[in-house]
Amino acid sequence: PFDVLIVGGGPAGAAAAVYAARKGIRTGVVAERFGGQVNDTLAIENYISVLETDGPKFAAALEAQVKHYGVDIMNLQQAVRLVPAEEEGGYVTVELANGGTLQSRAVILSTGARWRNVNVPGEQEYKNRGVAYCPHCDGPLFKGKRTAVIGGGNSGVEAAIDLAGIVQHVTLIEFNDTLKADAVLVSKLKSLPNVTIITHAQTTEITGDGQKVNGLRYKDRATGSEHHIELEGVFVQIGLVPNTEWLKGTVDLSRFGEIEVDAKGHTNVAGVFAAGDCTTVPYKQIVIAAGEGAKAALSAFDYLIRTPMP
Ligand code: FAD
Repeated sequence: PFDVLIVGGGPAGAAAAVYAARKGIRTGVVAERFGGQVNDTLAIENYISVLETDGPKFAAALEAQVKHYGVDIMNLQQAVRLVPAEEEGGYVTVELANGGTLQSRAVILSTGARWRNVNVPGEQEYKNRGVAYCPHCDGPLFKGKRTAVIGGGNSGVEAAIDLAGIVQHVTLIEFNDTLKADAVLVSKLKSLPNVTIITHAQTTEITGDGQKVNGLRYKDRATGSEHHIELEGVFVQIGLVPNTEWLKGTVDLSRFGEIEVDAKGHTNVAGVFAAGDCTTVPYKQIVIAAGEGAKAALSAFDYLIRTPMP
């Protein structure tokens, strides 16, 4: 059994593993894909102290540091069930898809999240070649260029406002006939000179020249007419889905499926902590996930030294 078992091997899980292992306690990481979302990232330019790196390099650096401390990494393993300890201080059980079970006195959940896709032709083909999901991350790559944002909820409208300050022009595409975002954001968006809002529009294709994005095709849902806009970038903002389906009914989740955590990363289950994109902590970024992972590990250590075995 472990003292601390971390489920998820992205930046949050890796930071938790380093912090836990440095306390000299038995630490394990189980991950479907070690590295997490950064594996799918091209340039990373906002991790503090690192001017520029790329996703695979960053993921390899995470793994090297975790291995340096002798952490037991169980890669390519999916956790499917969490069973709380019978009594506080006892062992929490994590069941794996391969039928195995792992036991640990403290568990840190850091299973991250995934961006919801629009599922139109061109989206997969041009991912990282004009199709982007994170305006904080990739906005500056489109400086002076034309972009679209798909989605008129709060995240889409915030992204459009953010991008309008960087790029040449933003077209916001919303499926419904009104924007669902807060009124204050919508009026801010409407005040910007380089933004066009198109509602009641269904994106049908992200077009490209074989190398990169060159436009977006949509259907006017009122008239059925097809339109094509020429642009260089498309930000898909139709939701970030936490990887927490397997925890439903065991750990308290928000209405968006995010694990509810307090300021120290505690969940509602004794001995179970959470960190990173899978939690209610706002702003889903590498530097934030890493900080939260470190915090959860320190909270787990605090729990271990204060809570006797039953
Ligand atoms: P994740 O990175 O999502 O890691 C989750 C881990 O949990 C993975 O190892 C996964 O395999 C594992 N897992 C999930 N479910 C299970 C399960 N049931 N059992 C076992 N393991 C499981 N942020 C920035 O700061 N800068 C950027 O430039 C940037 N660019 C981005 C570009 C793209 C294309 C994307 C998708 C994201 C980008 N982000 C960027 C966001 C950043 O990647 C995330 O905020 C960060 O990776 C979150 O870390 P995490 O550890 O919480 O989760």
